[in-house]
Amino acid sequence: TSFFSSVKMGPADPILGLGLAFNADTDPKKVNLGVGVYRGDDGKPFVLESVKKAGGAYPHMEYAPISGPPGFVGKAQGLAFGENSTAIKQKRIASTQSLSGTGGLRVVSDFLARFLPSKKIYVPNPSWGNHLNIFKDSGLDVQRYSYFDASKNALNFEGILKDLNAAPKDSIVLLHACAHNPTGIDPTKEQWAEIINLVSTKQLFPFVDMAYQGFASGDLDRDAYALRSLTETVPNLALAQSFAKNFGLYGQRIGAAHFVCKDAEEADRVLSQVKILIRPMYSNPPIHGAHIVDTILSNPDLTKLWKSELKDMADRMNNIRGRLVQELAALGSTRDWSHITKQIGMMAFTGMSKAQVDRLKAEFHVYMTDDGRAAISGLNSQNVQYVAKAFHEVTK
Ligand code: PMP
Repeated sequence: TSFFSSVKMGPADPILGLGLAFNADTDPKKVNLGVGVYRGDDGKPFVLESVKKAGGAYPHMEYAPISGPPGFVGKAQGLAFGENSTAIKQKRIASTQSLSGTGGLRVVSDFLARFLPSKKIYVPNPSWGNHLNIFKDSGLDVQRYSYFDASKNALNFEGILKDLNAAPKDSIVLLHACAHNPTGIDPTKEQWAEIINLVSTKQLFPFVDMAYQGFASGDLDRDAYALRSLTETVPNLALAQSFAKNFGLYGQRIGAAHFVCKDAEEADRVLSQVKILIRPMYSNPPIHGAHIVDTILSNPDLTKLWKSELKDMADRMNNIRGRLVQELAALGSTRDWSHITKQIGMMAFTGMSKAQVDRLKAEFHVYMTDDGRAAISGLNSQNVQYVAKAFHEVTK
């Protein structure tokens, strides 16, 4: 007998489990469009030049403060809210380093579960799968709001307004800042204005997930538009910020969590409780990723280099979307694939069914999630034609 006899086998994670299946596949033609990790056109893992240059020269190996090194945290704030942000000037943002976007989401949701009057959180349908796990594990009560119209491969804007309008006062609303995952479809500026107005008048609490700043359009300020507009409009909000994609620092687990407060005194109180929440979880954050991000953002030449590399990554993904749609047309596909080029960011929501996704895997060794989401970052000039052929064959 064992103390663990009653522990049942759990299912593999739908996204990370796919990577294991991909690794076990011995076919040389295999293509991984599962996990959202940027690859260069050679299909290899990609380390940014700016990151290589910033990675060395270590001041020390001692503990960082619970909420991360102040230099890093300040840079993270500036990137998200803008250098000229009045909320930053008024010192009313409580911020902490986090274990990438996931850790930031978890710290925020634990905090909200502990201190907010309502436990209801409205999450777009669909959303990144891990959102649901995080919020449930924090003890929040997960509700959904419409986001996507599958029949048109487009935003269901009316559905968003209708569902958020019906949400009770004080409910939390999860908003993707840009490059919505998995659909790749964001509201326009005009639509954001209406959503923000609704959130404000209905007194909902906005919780923003920003995993792709700069990765969507290549422009950091443009991708932060919704967050900054919200910050100007509502009294409070929370933000989970990831540097996994835009700095290519996936495995470093570097990000930040921010709480916009009424004033500096409130921000001090909030930060004290954030630290009390983090201390029994992991005490202090890791220092290497924070060091890299801080170094890049403190040095104008490195910042410039990083921004140009970010733009190159965003451009490559937009170009490869175009290539994929061109190849499909060249193969004679009569299906409308135009949504793929209209979408933005790392994901293409192809509109393929689970049965088609299963065939892609079994017959063509092309791996993507069951909902028909393809990580565009796995495409390159060597495999795009092959993937187009596979898409065409299963959708004929
Ligand atoms: N939010 C969204 C919408 C994401 O797509 C991801 C990564 N796939 C994350 C958060 C968090 O990623 P990480 O923990 O690697 O920063």
